[in-house]
Amino acid sequence: MGGGNIRSKEDLMNEIIDRIASCAACPLSVSRSNVVPGEGSLDTPIMFVGEGPGEEEDLSGRPFVGRAGRLLDKIFESVQLNREEFYITNVVKCRPPGNRTPKQEERRACSHFLYAQIALIQPKLIVCLGATALSFFLETPVTMREARGKFYPWIGGIRLFVMYHPSYLLRVQSKAPGSPKYQTWEDIKLLKKVYEKLIAGWTFEQIEKEIGSGTP
Ligand code: SF4
Repeated sequence: MGGGNIRSKEDLMNEIIDRIASCAACPLSVSRSNVVPGEGSLDTPIMFVGEGPGEEEDLSGRPFVGRAGRLLDKIFESVQLNREEFYITNVVKCRPPGNRTPKQEERRACSHFLYAQIALIQPKLIVCLGATALSFFLETPVTMREARGKFYPWIGGIRLFVMYHPSYLLRVQSKAPGSPKYQTWEDIKLLKKVYEKLIAGWTFEQIEKEIGSGTP
């Protein structure tokens, strides 16, 4: 009959998750309670990638479920989106102690898991949550101030975009024009527009023509 060796995306993702679960390639394996591989749609055109799991994520094994995660859910809901429409993960799959920024060697040790997830899902856009995640992809340090509001071309025609990490937004109060919260509202409205066009089959070139690229 043939075709017996074709494996579903779910099967392949489960294999990646199994490998993450038994990984001890960096010191974060020692302090973790659970690995946090990621979750969401495998057929989405958009992935969201943060820098690393926090305490509640470490305890539950799920990404963005703590206070920051609940704020991220609200950000989605503000434009009638739902987190299940996207794939959400982090650069490193185990919690750095004390929620510190993952070290370069930890990011490097873990990167093949994220690359495997990206290769499987084949998103058109990766939304980085925080400058650390964008710096990982661009392989150069960037700040939110210089990086926000632009689509960066990356490998395989994938675009990168950065939003404030929701845990940072929890620490700022102002919603005045120009504030990080206000800018996040602008960003999520833009992302909704881009998402609708991507699921309607538009290419990124067409989208950039329509909305103005902001490409650096
Ligand atoms: S952070 Fe990544 S590389 Fe380090 S132990 Fe966890 S899964 Fe392995």
